Amino acid sequence: MITHLAPRFIDTIPEHPESGVLYVSIEYATTLHLCACGCGYEVVLGIAPRDWKITWDGETVTINPSVGNWSLPCQSHYLIRRNKIVWARRWTNKEIDRGRAADALRKRLQQTRTPLSGDALSPRTPP
Ligand SMILES: [Zn+2]
Repeated sequence: MITHLAPRFIDTIPEHPESGVLYVSIEYATTLHLCACGCGYEVVLGIAPRDWKITWDGETVTINPSVGNWSLPCQSHYLIRRNKIVWARRWTNKEIDRGRAADALRKRLQQTRTPLSGDALSPRTPP
């Protein structure tokens, strides 16, 4: 289980990412890390107004909203707060379905509207 993710700003996505590192590519507006549960799957989070937002304070990173890895076997769910992994409750299949539907609806609505500020407790699902 990973407790911390240290940010590393990169130009190219590494072929063999290390665990405990949050790779950030500003150019591609993408982050990559190995799932915090330790399962070894890569988790790619796209940075965009409708997806994840990253806050870097010079030392630590915070990512909003939470990371819900519903498509991975582990289905882990956690927040990244000032480099720290904060575990969140695992969702039931019903909640995941509902979350996905809400996500799709929100994205559709936001195509014609100004995005609302992110809801930290409403996870997005990586593709
Ligand atoms: Zn995992």
